[in-house]
Amino acid sequence: MPSNQPTAGHLAVDPQYLSSQPSSMASTNEPNRNKSYDPKKVHITDTPMTRSNWYKHVNWLNVTFIIGVPLAGCVAAFWTPLQWKTAAWAVLYYFWTGLGITAGYHRLWAHKSYSARLPLKIFLAAVGGGAVEGSIRWWSRDHRAHHRYTDTSKDPYSVRKGLMYSHLGWMVMKQNPKRIGRTDISDLNEDAVVVWQHKNYLKVVIFMGLIFPMMVSGLGWGDWLGGFIYAGILRIFFVQQATFCVNSLAHWLGDQPFDDRNSPRDHLITALVTLGEGYHNFHHEFPSDYRNAIEWHQYDPTKWSIRMWKSLGLAYDLKQFRSNEIEKGRVQQLQKKLDQKRAKLDWGVPLEQLPVLEWDDYVDQAKNGRALIAVAGIVHDLTDFIKEHPGGKALITSGIGKDATAMFNGGVYLHSNGAHNLLSTMRVGIIRGGCEVEIWKRAQRENKDVQYIKDDAGNRIIRAGNQVTKVQQPVVSAGAA
Ligand SMILES: [Zn+2]
Ligand SMILES: [Zn+2]
Repeated sequence: MPSNQPTAGHLAVDPQYLSSQPSSMASTNEPNRNKSYDPKKVHITDTPMTRSNWYKHVNWLNVTFIIGVPLAGCVAAFWTPLQWKTAAWAVLYYFWTGLGITAGYHRLWAHKSYSARLPLKIFLAAVGGGAVEGSIRWWSRDHRAHHRYTDTSKDPYSVRKGLMYSHLGWMVMKQNPKRIGRTDISDLNEDAVVVWQHKNYLKVVIFMGLIFPMMVSGLGWGDWLGGFIYAGILRIFFVQQATFCVNSLAHWLGDQPFDDRNSPRDHLITALVTLGEGYHNFHHEFPSDYRNAIEWHQYDPTKWSIRMWKSLGLAYDLKQFRSNEIEKGRVQQLQKKLDQKRAKLDWGVPLEQLPVLEWDDYVDQAKNGRALIAVAGIVHDLTDFIKEHPGGKALITSGIGKDATAMFNGGVYLHSNGAHNLLSTMRVGIIRGGCEVEIWKRAQRENKDVQYIKDDAGNRIIRAGNQVTKVQQPVVSAGAA
């Protein structure tokens, strides 16, 4: 028996199930707690870990079930020949028990993303128990807290505490039950299958985790020990590690196509490992959708299974977000990425920060050797650019000290969008009463606020063809007269 410190919601196996007394269900929405739990007592997690008390911080029961038993299984495998029938059965049972977690615990009970008929519920509760990851009730409570308080201190497996913490650490170290965010599980308390599985959890785990897989290979082809080691212990280890990856890898590896304000991510590798739970950025955005992968070519065997059960009449009321809403989220995230990219580029000094020049000052400076050119009321310094001008030096020189608006906009050469963008990086001033002001007034009159659209960070958005120097029908600059 591990240390008698009060523990939070039980983990792989809760100590309360080790007593001969059937546990009573908590009457409220509180986490499942030890009967010995005393909220007034200082919890071990509130005391710093030292050389003399570190072992009290460790949840030894979970260390045994998650690390100790699998290690023992690995050692025993050296002396246990693996028969191909047992291997095939272990893989098949891996998928069943994995689906018990992904399609059962996760998508059916934690998220209610579809409804299941009684036989399917019993199947999922049984094979889910065989994955040895706690009862449906405990698992779903923590998982709802994980969604509600993602990445915060109330998230039971926050990746912000480190990748290893989100994968294993939260189970092998004791957690303070007061720390985990509260969630409503009243619906689960009314589900007879959930209540039965919770009350009989230890029996379910031992039977479905070890005895049943051993019996299949023992009665089927006489391989009792192989069934116990491979389809039992080692299969539990792989299914546990795979599903733990949803808490760790899926919050660490991949893209964030829907929202990047929290840690969940989408990645094929995580999907391959977790029976399709790897599209986790989508899942955290649309948790009540029975799918994790929305594209036909993405790997989501959990979704395929739910669809198959639907066609067999075992599942119904599959919930799905409208693609319009999904695309809105995707576009907003794209927009955000675009804004970040745009902000890194040089779009020229913002107009409002440019000094205002009198027309005569502009002409004077141009005469004194600065290659200044006015286009649409904005002064550009082309001194360093003249020799690189693709149209030759002469064309620029002819515009120096003059209003080159018409010349630049087709009078002599209709410049490209790229040329307008490049020109904007050379601007150094605005001519008082210049053409830019006229363009702005015209845009206002035509009700097109072309010049002043800004992104969330306040950066002006310059669309192709909307540069301030781009003038369709050049108006005569006031100062040029
Ligand atoms: Zn998550
Ligand atoms: Zn979830």
